[in-house]
Amino acid sequence: MNADEATTVLTPPPVMGLYDAPMWGSIHARKMTLQKCCSCASFRYPPGPTCGECLSMQYEWTTIKGGGEIWSWVVFHRSYLPAYPAPYNVIAVKLEEGPMLISNLDGELPAGSWIGCRVQLNYVNMPDGAVLPRFRLVKE
Ligand SMILES: [Zn+2]
Repeated sequence: MNADEATTVLTPPPVMGLYDAPMWGSIHARKMTLQKCCSCASFRYPPGPTCGECLSMQYEWTTIKGGGEIWSWVVFHRSYLPAYPAPYNVIAVKLEEGPMLISNLDGELPAGSWIGCRVQLNYVNMPDGAVLPRFRLVKE
């Protein structure tokens, strides 16, 4: 371990299954793609071999718009990982394309319930070089 490693808090690495690398590569390039079914046009998340709607194995990686709506949220007041000091939030976002992403809300936070708030994907550079797909509120 060198001096930089000792002072940089590492972002937990993503779990990489057989279908995850293209998605994480697109996130690092700040143009997130998900698998879109060639038979029924449904988007898949997490990445996998078959469509959850029609079981087709055919897909194409398609860039998502990044818009969505908060379906659930929580603020943790206890830290579980050094990269996420408390307090921090976790949100469940229903993407316009259909899948649900679990992420974090940065910037201005809503007053009251966060459910139903419109959000937009925002790529965040972590101190260790990782790029994470997080969200920001959409001003309406
Ligand atoms: Zn399908």
